[in-house]
Amino acid sequence: MKATQVGASEYDARIRRAELLASRYAFAAEVLRFYSQLAGFQKKLYAEIKKDFGRALSAGRTSPFRPGFSAADAIETLPTLTNFLRLMEQAAPPALAAAAREISKLDPTSHLSLLHAYWELGGVNDQLIGPFAQFIPRAFVQPLAELLAAYTTAPPAVSTPHDCPLCGGQPMLGVLRPEGDGGKRRMMCSFCLQEWDYRRIYCPSCHETDEKKLPVYVAEQFPHIRVETCETCKTYIRTIDLTTDGNAVPLVDDLAAIPLSLWAQEHGYTRLQPNLLGT
Ligand SMILES: [Zn+2]
Ligand SMILES: [Zn+2]
Repeated sequence: MKATQVGASEYDARIRRAELLASRYAFAAEVLRFYSQLAGFQKKLYAEIKKDFGRALSAGRTSPFRPGFSAADAIETLPTLTNFLRLMEQAAPPALAAAAREISKLDPTSHLSLLHAYWELGGVNDQLIGPFAQFIPRAFVQPLAELLAAYTTAPPAVSTPHDCPLCGGQPMLGVLRPEGDGGKRRMMCSFCLQEWDYRRIYCPSCHETDEKKLPVYVAEQFPHIRVETCETCKTYIRTIDLTTDGNAVPLVDDLAAIPLSLWAQEHGYTRLQPNLLGT
């Protein structure tokens, strides 16, 4: 598997979709307008680090994804968090803006430790970090994770990998992509955002394969979003069905689906990996 290249056009597509959905769903407008500013920042950061690392990466000097490519060095050469924190304090919803304010009070060494800690645990042991503490480092290092993934080739798969074949991150989101007369199920990584092929009837958390224990719910409001639950482990994964809406951008449509998070909570299901905004 060769990873998909991301770049300016991918970020532009996310931004356009966020703006469109903000006008469609009033309850998610604030979150989506904020996300579109965040994606604008990530787009610039991606271009900057690609300029710095792209040549070394394409020369094949990368070792395994994590902790490979001396990710430590890469993180040290990222621009400082200062500008990003300022934007978050101004633009983020109150709880996340407060998290940004707390982190701005820390010194540069602590900022670096925060980024290193997320790089090691993100997408794998996030529960050790907590959704609010992880928002800032996650949003900030995501462009670096996407860049490294784009230059990494996964080892040939012998069976369906449970976790991301590039970086080892857990699935955040399912994606059904049109194939033949139906859809092919893929998983999107919570850390590097790459997709890989996945079995259709299979709980990504406890590996349940009994279809009767894996009920799928679809709300009238979001016909293209499947809430795929597991009665065995009570986790769920959300799947964006591109066979129903080919214009959806999975990462962004997921952020808009706030009522589905509330529904799942009320019904006792926990999300395998929360999205960037912790829902
Ligand atoms: Zn990954
Ligand atoms: Zn399960």
